[in-house]
Amino acid sequence: MLLTEAPPLAVAEAQRRILARIRTLPPERVALSAALGRVLAEPLPARGDLPPWDNSAMDGYAVRAAEVAAGVALTVALDLPAGAPAGVTLPPASAARIMTGAPLPDGADAVVPVERTEGPTGEGSFARVGEWVRFMAGVEPGSHVRRRGEDVRAGATAVPLGATCGAAQLAMAATAGHATVSVVRRPRVAIVSTGDELVDVDQAGTPDRIVNGNAYGLAAQVTIAGGEAWKLPIVPDDHDATVAAVEEALSADAVITIGGVSVGERDHVRRALAQSGVELAFWRVAMRPGGPFAFGTAAGGRAVFALPGNPVSAHVTFELFARPALRRMAGHARCFRRPFRARLAEAVVPHAEKALYLRGHLNEDAGGWRVATTGPQGSGVLSSLVAADCLIVVPPGAGTLAAGVGVDVLPLAESAFDTEEP
Ligand code: AMP
Ligand code: MG
Repeated sequence: MLLTEAPPLAVAEAQRRILARIRTLPPERVALSAALGRVLAEPLPARGDLPPWDNSAMDGYAVRAAEVAAGVALTVALDLPAGAPAGVTLPPASAARIMTGAPLPDGADAVVPVERTEGPTGEGSFARVGEWVRFMAGVEPGSHVRRRGEDVRAGATAVPLGATCGAAQLAMAATAGHATVSVVRRPRVAIVSTGDELVDVDQAGTPDRIVNGNAYGLAAQVTIAGGEAWKLPIVPDDHDATVAAVEEALSADAVITIGGVSVGERDHVRRALAQSGVELAFWRVAMRPGGPFAFGTAAGGRAVFALPGNPVSAHVTFELFARPALRRMAGHARCFRRPFRARLAEAVVPHAEKALYLRGHLNEDAGGWRVATTGPQGSGVLSSLVAADCLIVVPPGAGTLAAGVGVDVLPLAESAFDTEEP
């Protein structure tokens, strides 16, 4: 089943067929500090009310609102910094110095910010315990008070199942009392580089050899996608060696092979995959770069992505096919980059049958997003990928797309949206 006769698939169809075969991995329990970027496999309830007591939203004075009016002075009876005990009682006809976050004393029902008071040392400066404070205006009950449980009630969900643990979710998880969380396991991804011409970077400069740059790029892409990369040694263009490497690699959750997936005599990958029990779902996608991409599955639902060796082909096929699958394995509901529209800065000629994924650079002007190509688009040209922050999607078709025409653009990183200006 080498699929030599099957016509190339459209990109979206290839993406659908891959995702249909991908399952989310089982969960594991990790310390909160190891959960960044992971997907919650359990909802996190608040262990108690958040906040745990009524508390002050301002630095000022806790009062009984009914006792305060413009010009009224009260004695300062208490000093309540953050960390003061809850359950202290405010004596009648007095005020308590209170700092942001400190528990509201029993009997008090409002806070007056210090800026709206006068003390022995002047307007807006705190009086000490035993001194007087005068109010510039009355105050409504509940003013500048954060109610117990107003954020999340005890037992209610503080962070939902399926949420990605970003900074906010981790802050809430800790606040809600969870030192460990159950998250979806990270996919372990084996990277198998094939090619007689390859050496590792420590052998750079070896005559007639090129450095295995793809393994470094792809390992980074795996990490960014939420996986754990496992680089195997370089495999020569030999059937048995390729089979042995694939079989070792299949102990991982997913396998990425690089190179050897086209129709050359020395392209052993598809035959080696078949021999290793990998069932190929398809081979060849109607796209450039990256046409000879193949996808298959092995026992236990392991996914195998056979990427073409040209550096930009490998990068782009990972981005379009492997990244969404790894994200699904890691539990994400949203697996695909969201395309958005930008205007072409220059004319582009589509291919009759293949979708083009051009390396582009985004800019915003008065008319919105504008995208320019970053230079030569050969599948071995890394310099234009280095300069790129997006891929410009040019569907197959006839007729030049003129400058100014709207196209779909796929960002390659969130930093594509960052800007130099505030
Ligand atoms: P292949 O897909 O095996 O026919 O490889 C196509 C071309 O991509 C090769 O001639 C190499 O120049 C290049 N290539 C293949 N594998 C790698 C790799 N791991 N790192 C960098 N370049 C590669
Ligand atoms: Mg090769």
